[in-house]
Amino acid sequence: MLDTRELGRRAGSMREESLVRSAPEGIGIMSIGVPPGSEVELDLRLESVIEGVLVSGTARVQLTGECSRCLDPVSDELEVDIQELYVYEETDHRGRPVRTDSLEGEDEDEQRHLVGDYLDLEPVLRDAVVLDLPLAPVCRDDCPGLCPQCGFRLEDDPKHGHDVIDPRWAALGALADETSSARTNAPSTDDQQEED
Ligand SMILES: [Zn+2]
Ligand SMILES: [Zn+2]
Repeated sequence: MLDTRELGRRAGSMREESLVRSAPEGIGIMSIGVPPGSEVELDLRLESVIEGVLVSGTARVQLTGECSRCLDPVSDELEVDIQELYVYEETDHRGRPVRTDSLEGEDEDEQRHLVGDYLDLEPVLRDAVVLDLPLAPVCRDDCPGLCPQCGFRLEDDPKHGHDVIDPRWAALGALADETSSARTNAPSTDDQQEED
């Protein structure tokens, strides 16, 4: 929650704020996300406009996750742009906030509202960060990942390999045996031999 009282409600006034907040829970996807409680650095510009308060600026968050290739822990930083208009609550002739539930439900996604003098930055931060997260994070761009056969970390030994014959080759070998034995029984012509 960000307090906008100092900004005032006169359209045209502007304030810049740099602040550090701790990250809320649950910003992230399966493979990577913002650790709850980690520092979120916000550089924001609050502008009072006729309909409400326009918030713009950047948020810098910490990321922790798992390399999608070798499963090593990955940590990173992410900076996202934020821009959102928070509209004033409607008030009646006495200045009391009017809450029409149908309205709230209808445009909940498109329209953010100030609650009194406060604005809730969390959903905006969440959307901006989640949209920018890498779907398949890697510890580094050329991470060799794991051996598809045994799960060995290929980085630990670039020469890692298996001597075991691939089952597909084994099947081919069996096939070759069959053809050669078939050929000995069949009358062989010159054409067939050239194909080989
Ligand atoms: Zn990796
Ligand atoms: Zn292996």
